[in-house]
Amino acid sequence: MASEPVTKAGGASSGGNTEIPRIRCPACFKQFSTDENLVRHLEKACHTEHEPQCGVCHKHCFCFEALREHLLGRLAKKECAAEFSRRGCSLCLDVLESEEALTNHRLKCQFMSACPSGKVLTTPMEQSIKGAIDAPEGSAEAAHFSEERQYGAVALDCEMVGGGSDGSINICARVCLVDEDENVLLNTYVQPLLPVTDYRYEITGIKPSDFNGAPSFKRVRYIVKRILEDGPLLIGHDLRHDLACLRLDHSPELIRDTATYQLFVKTSGVSHKLRFLTEVFLGYKIQDGTIHDPCEDAIAAMRLYKRMRSRRHAGALVHVCDLSQLSLQHVDAPQWSYSSVYSYSEPSFYCWCVDSKT
Ligand SMILES: [Zn+2]
Ligand SMILES: [Zn+2]
Ligand SMILES: [Zn+2]
Ligand SMILES: [Zn+2]
Repeated sequence: MASEPVTKAGGASSGGNTEIPRIRCPACFKQFSTDENLVRHLEKACHTEHEPQCGVCHKHCFCFEALREHLLGRLAKKECAAEFSRRGCSLCLDVLESEEALTNHRLKCQFMSACPSGKVLTTPMEQSIKGAIDAPEGSAEAAHFSEERQYGAVALDCEMVGGGSDGSINICARVCLVDEDENVLLNTYVQPLLPVTDYRYEITGIKPSDFNGAPSFKRVRYIVKRILEDGPLLIGHDLRHDLACLRLDHSPELIRDTATYQLFVKTSGVSHKLRFLTEVFLGYKIQDGTIHDPCEDAIAAMRLYKRMRSRRHAGALVHVCDLSQLSLQHVDAPQWSYSSVYSYSEPSFYCWCVDSKT
């Protein structure tokens, strides 16, 4: 497939009409009247093996939503839609070798909804965090917890209630952190820093009594800060709000945000809701009664991250390219391959599959 030449679209060109598009981009199938225009397109198009590809025709798409439209939308390509309906996975959009392979694949691809309370904490580190949360205010245990374990990736979600005369000030009210194995490291209410004027109950489900005995903001912030100081990847959905409410920063290179990840956005470039991504990519519903459970949300974000991290691209298409073959003088020859196409393009986003290789 790597050396598959560019298809000249529209059949043999009979006349001298240069207006007729006749050469097509091997990645996105857009058509161009000249090789030079194709080269200009490639320099801007950011085609890489990391783009989602149709498992039938190998068309590259900007994001999964565009691929979904190509396979399942109203204007889906007929041949691809027919194959996909037989042996395509509607969650990850992979096309399997056979219907039987699809049945086995679906068992792994489909998630069950996460237990809202998460898994029981057992490791010394997790016990230590719990000890630090539960300890009396001002005690030595509240200020220290052991740092025996470093986390490769943690997912964070916070729920906020409203303060100020119109309830528009976000106040941190609940914090949840989970690790890669969905162990709940932290799941706690937080004493509000300001008087609460709007509990935002329909979304948060939080009642005044939930704050009885809750640890202080300072203590919760300290624990989250200590875990983040070890430099784990931080996973979440629209994390800037969560970090702002905790008054914390995390290095942008270590943030994996499902709201801004290029492959997860709408074709318009706008973010999807976590609830939508979870249903479409993982196959189960969250926030079903509209109330958000921060653990359920953090686990969904972690699962989405891991799904993208473990994505395997049609890697056989990619070869180290021989740059000497790619000068403009050679472009009239119909020898564009995926590798030469990729060599013209810089990826427009950091693909999370790279995390699995580092
Ligand atoms: Zn293209
Ligand atoms: Zn990738
Ligand atoms: Zn296709
Ligand atoms: Zn799948």
